[in-house]
Amino acid sequence: MAYDDNNVFAKILRGEIPSKKVLEDAHALAFHDIHPARPVHILVIPKGKYTDFTEFATRATPAEQTGFWSAVAEAAKKAGVVETGYRLVANTGANGGQEVPHFHVHILGGGRVGPMVARD
Ligand code: AMP
Repeated sequence: MAYDDNNVFAKILRGEIPSKKVLEDAHALAFHDIHPARPVHILVIPKGKYTDFTEFATRATPAEQTGFWSAVAEAAKKAGVVETGYRLVANTGANGGQEVPHFHVHILGGGRVGPMVARD
C-alpha cells in the first residue's frame, strides 16, 4: 500500500497536529493516545514512512529498526510500567483493526490490560 502523507501521524510528525510527547529522538516519536484505553496508553511511531509493521520490518534499515524498538523500551520506562508489566500491540491491516496507516506500537499498562483478544 502506498504511504498516505496526509495520515494523522504524518501530520503529528510534521508538527501540523499537536501531540502529548513522551519522547522523541532521531528514529521515533512516542506520544499519548488521544483516546486512552488504559491508564497508560502510549503510541510509538517511527519517523520513516512505513504504512504498517510488515513494511517497517521488511524495508526499514537496521538502524531505524533498532532505534525504533529502543524508543519503545524507553517510552515504557518513562511511563513507569516496566515493573508492573505492560502490553505491546501492533494492529496491522484490515483484519488487524489498524486505523492509522503509519506503523505504530501501542504501549498499554498502568493496570491489568485484560484478555489478549476478545473471543467472539
Ligand atoms: P490503530 O487502530 O492501531 O490504528 O490505532 C490508532 C490509534 O491512534 C487509536 O488508539 C486512536 O485513539 C489514536 N489516535 C488517533 N488520532 C490521534 C491523535 N491525533 N493523537 C493521538 N492519538 C490518536
